[in-house]
Amino acid sequence: MVTRRQLCSVVPSVAIGLLSAPLKAGENRIAELEKPLRSYIIAGAGVSGLIAAITAAEHGVKDILVIEKEPLIGGASILCEGVWTLAGTPFQKETGLADSSEKFLENLIEDAKGTNDPKLLKAYIDHCLDQYEWFARKGIHPKEIITNTGMNVPRGHTFDPLQIIICLRKRLNELGIALVTGAKAKKLLLKADGAVAGLLVESKGKTFKISSKLGVLLATGGFSRNTELIAKYAPKMINAVRLSCAGAYGDGLIMALEAGADVRDIHNIRAAYGFILNPSSVFDISQTIYAGAISVNSQGLRYVNESLPYKDIGEIALEQPSQRTFMVFDSLILKAQMEDRAADARLYAPLLKGETPIFMSAAASLEELARTARLPVANFVSTVSRYNTYVDKGFDEEFGRRHLTLTYGTMRKIQKAPFYLVPTTCASMGTNGGVRVNEKTQVLKADLSAIPGLYAAGEMMGGFHGNSFMGGTSYGKAIVFGRINGLYIAEENSRA
Ligand SMILES: Cc1cc2nc3c(=O)[nH]c(=O)nc-3n(C[C@H](O)[C@H](O)[C@H](O)COP(=O)(O)OP(=O)(O)OC[C@H]3O[C@@H](n4cnc5c(N)ncnc54)[C@H](O)[C@@H]3O)c2cc1C
Repeated sequence: MVTRRQLCSVVPSVAIGLLSAPLKAGENRIAELEKPLRSYIIAGAGVSGLIAAITAAEHGVKDILVIEKEPLIGGASILCEGVWTLAGTPFQKETGLADSSEKFLENLIEDAKGTNDPKLLKAYIDHCLDQYEWFARKGIHPKEIITNTGMNVPRGHTFDPLQIIICLRKRLNELGIALVTGAKAKKLLLKADGAVAGLLVESKGKTFKISSKLGVLLATGGFSRNTELIAKYAPKMINAVRLSCAGAYGDGLIMALEAGADVRDIHNIRAAYGFILNPSSVFDISQTIYAGAISVNSQGLRYVNESLPYKDIGEIALEQPSQRTFMVFDSLILKAQMEDRAADARLYAPLLKGETPIFMSAAASLEELARTARLPVANFVSTVSRYNTYVDKGFDEEFGRRHLTLTYGTMRKIQKAPFYLVPTTCASMGTNGGVRVNEKTQVLKADLSAIPGLYAAGEMMGGFHGNSFMGGTSYGKAIVFGRINGLYIAEENSRA
C-alpha cells in the first residue's frame, strides 16, 4: 500500500500536517455525520470532489457535506505530477504557442480515433479556462508547459498539486463546507423508483444514514488497488506496478453499479511506459522518449513507434521478452528533456555533477553501453545507427515514427556521447474508464437514462479518453468535471 512512504516522496512532511489537521475547530467532527439531511453529499476529497463542493457553494448551494475515507484529503490528485492539459491559456500565449480550443478538440478526437464521447470533450473545453482563471485569481499558475503523451502541441500545463489541494481546502473552509475525513461512503440510499436519496456513511465503527435533497456525487477516484476489479476489467495489468492513492479501491464504481449505472471505457486500463525499475512515485517516470530517445528490448532491438502515447507503448513493452525494455538516448536528447520537463531534470540531476544515478548506465560509446547493460552489442549498435538513418530521412521505416510525440517535433539522432540507457518498467497511474456519464455529470444507465440524484466526476467517470489517453487529461478531467458538477447542482438547487 502507498500511503505514507509514497506520500512522503512527493509531499513535504510539513504539508502532510496541513492535510490532516482540521483547519478550524469542529471541521472533522463526527457530529457533522449526525445531521440526517443535507442539501448535497460528495464522497471523495480529491480535486473533483473539492472543486464540485466549492463551485456549488459559490453558486448558492448551502449545507454541503464532503466525506473522505482516508485520514488525509487529496487522493491521487496530490500524488500526481500536476499536468493539466489546456488550450489557449495566457501562459501558452506568453510562451509563443499558437493553440486553440478547436485544435485541442481535434487532437483529443484524433488521439482516441473517435472512441471518446464528443459531448464530454466539448464540455471540458467549454469549462476548462474558467477553472484555470479561478485558480489564477487565487494566485495559482502553471510552472511550465510540456509536450506530453498524445499531444500534437505542447499544452500540458504543470501545476503544483499540493498547492492546488491546499488552496481548495482553504476555500472549502472559507465557505463553511463541512468536511469529514476518516468517513467512508458505504452504500447509496435509493428510493423505490431507483432515484438516489442519500448515502450510508461509516466512520469510527458507526454508520450514519444521511439523506440529501440534491443527490450524491461520487468523486471517489479510480480502482487501481482493487485486484478483483483489475482482474475483471484489465487482467493483463494484474502484475503491473500500480501507483495510485491508498483509497483507490473502486468503492464509488461498485456503489454506482449497484444503483444500475452503465460503464464506459472500463477496459482502458493500461500501464504508462517510462518508469525506472521499482518506482515509488510519479517522480520515477522519465519521458525522454518524447525528446527523441528510443526504446529497445533485451535483444537490443526497437519494438515500437516511440512517439505513441505512453500507455500504448506500455502495452507493447509488457509483451517484450521478459518484459525487459530500455530507453536509449544521447547527451543532446538528455539536455533537451531536462530543459523541457522539471521531473526529468530532477531525475537526471546527478549526471550534471558527473555522477551516474544507480538506475541507469552511461558510456562513452554505444558498444560500451550495450556491454554494461548486457545487451547484444551488434544488434544494439546497428539498431541505433539504423534509427539515425531514419532521422535523416525524416521517417522511421520500421515503426512509422516521424516526430517526437504524435505530430509534434522533429526526431533527433542518437550520436553525441555520452550515451545513456535506462532499464524501464511500466506502471499504472490510474484507471481511465468508469461509469457512463453525460456532459452534466449525471450517471447513466445502459439505456442512457439518468439515475436521478446520482453524479460522478473525475477518475470515476468513463467516456472521456475512449481507448487512448492524452497526458494531463485525467487530472484535468477531475478538475473540470468537478466544476461542471458544481454548476449543475447549483442550477438544480435554484430549480428546487
Ligand atoms: C502517480 C500518479 C501521477 C499522475 N499524474 C497525472 C498527471 O500529471 N496528469 C494527469 O492528468 N493525471 C495524472 N494522474 C491521474 C490523476 O491524478 C487522477 O486521475 C485525478 O487526480 C483523480 O482525481 P479524482 O478527484 O477523481 O480522484 P482522487 O484524487 O483519487 O480522489 C478520490 C478520493 O476519494 C476517496 N475515496 C475513495 N473511496 C471512498 C469512499 N468510499 N468514501 C469516501 N471517500 C472515498 C479517496 O481516498 C480519494 O481521496 C496521476 C496519477 C498518479 C497516481
